[in-house]
Amino acid sequence: MKISFANLANQYLQIKPEIDETIQSVLLGGSFVGGELVQQFEEGFSKLCNTKNCIGVGNATDALFLSLKALGIGLGDEVITPAWSWISTAEVISLAGAKPIFVDVNPDFFTVTSEAIKKKINTKTKAVIIVHLYGQVAETLAIKALCDQHNLSLIEDCSQAHLSSENDVMAGTIGDFGAFSFYPTKNLGAYGDAGCLITNHDELAMKVRRLANHGGLSKDEHLMEGTNSRLDTLQAAILSVKLKHLPAWTDLRIKHAQLYINNLSGVTDLELPKTRNGVKHTFHQFVVKVQRRSELQLYLNSKEVETLIHYPKAIPFEPAYNYLNHIELDFPVSAQLQNEVLSLPVHPELSGEQILYVCDMIKSFYGSN
Ligand SMILES: *Cc1c(COP(=O)(O)O)cnc(C)c1O
Repeated sequence: MKISFANLANQYLQIKPEIDETIQSVLLGGSFVGGELVQQFEEGFSKLCNTKNCIGVGNATDALFLSLKALGIGLGDEVITPAWSWISTAEVISLAGAKPIFVDVNPDFFTVTSEAIKKKINTKTKAVIIVHLYGQVAETLAIKALCDQHNLSLIEDCSQAHLSSENDVMAGTIGDFGAFSFYPTKNLGAYGDAGCLITNHDELAMKVRRLANHGGLSKDEHLMEGTNSRLDTLQAAILSVKLKHLPAWTDLRIKHAQLYINNLSGVTDLELPKTRNGVKHTFHQFVVKVQRRSELQLYLNSKEVETLIHYPKAIPFEPAYNYLNHIELDFPVSAQLQNEVLSLPVHPELSGEQILYVCDMIKSFYGSN
């Protein structure tokens, strides 16, 4: 029984007729950038996220970059961002000309807190980018209140948090922008790169739409300098099909996570993920903290269970940020997570039986059968 970390071919086979039909219709339509199908997806996604505007773009890294540009953030500005995440949030700050200021995460929830952010705010601070990591939302309302108090923009990176919410408030709808990735392995994945921004501010939405299309809404309009970052028609059509399945796929992830939690709670060498009160955690990743990680990973691999590490290194400790001269003591939680986190397979294509098999293998490794 081979248990792979993702199984996108299997997912395709489940929805093959719908996908094949929509791809055919795009090919026969002969129009591949923009158009009605992109608009249809944007409307569908904003409806599901309970927000006013959705702007399809090339990928989430672009989405984050465009949101900083639209908010006027650049040279001389500081932007606060998590030390523990994927590198995109830090990269785009530098790309916009500003300086990334890293903040450590809460060890229980892997997300940043308003208290930690507050300590990093100074007169140069212009914005905060938070990440709803692994599918769990950060304490967005408290962070939003802090941002308002200091006149800072707030961007929510929701690349791992499609349909996540806190007290029924959808991820991405509290900040000025929510950025989503539709990278193939994300909870909602295209067949290539894709992403979007959501926002309740109509003016910001219009600005991003222009920035993503050479400064204009049509081909010959250039009100400002922008770039080219658009959502392909083919990807939009595929995403519209998959969007219908997203709620059911999300429920399956949550069900798998609960099965892991029920079956691994007695294993003392392993710390299970915790969910903040009121949060709907959508388990983009099911991340445990473990003792003897490399041994466990090798053992599971020998039992045909594929696991991954998100992430082997905290962002400030990557060679790309050597110039900031950070030491492990600057971000002690992230420094420790590097050695402890392990992501178990949790994709919706898995069966309950397969999850139980993974649990059994983990228990047999730790000798707690
Ligand atoms: C995947 C991911 C991104 C980048 O998404 P792309 O669409 O590949 O640019 C950014 N932030 C987080 C937290 C991610 O998981």
